Amino acid sequence: MEDCLFCKIINREIKSDIVFESDNVLIFKDISPEAPVHLIAIPKEHVSSIMEIGKLGDNALRELMEAMSKAAVEQGIDKDGFRVVTNTGSNAGQVVNHLHFHILGKRKFGWPPG
Ligand code: AMP
Ligand code: ZN
Repeated sequence: MEDCLFCKIINREIKSDIVFESDNVLIFKDISPEAPVHLIAIPKEHVSSIMEIGKLGDNALRELMEAMSKAAVEQGIDKDGFRVVTNTGSNAGQVVNHLHFHILGKRKFGWPPG
């Protein structure tokens, strides 16, 4: 999709630090990390948020979830625990309108979130 930052990252129009790639999924480091490990996991197909999750094929959805757990192991955050967040809409502060999951680890997180 034109003018979508994460589509541009997928197409290599914008550089990123990629840690995982498969047919349907990309995971890269967040440019402005909020934790010692802060990754962004996205489907390669452009869907705007979790509200459009029905547009993703079952395979892509499963691949995305499995890729996140693989990345957690590779980043060494699986044992101590980590957080997965998908901001949706303005109240949650979603800035990039391409479905993405933040994977945050290597520090303690408060609950409830701010
Ligand atoms: P959200 O507020 O949930 O839409 O999160 C968007 C995230 O994308 C933020 O954590 C940003 O730091 C991150 N971000 C923005 N531009 C880039 C980029 N070029 N490469 C990696 N992460 C980015
Ligand atoms: Zn996009």
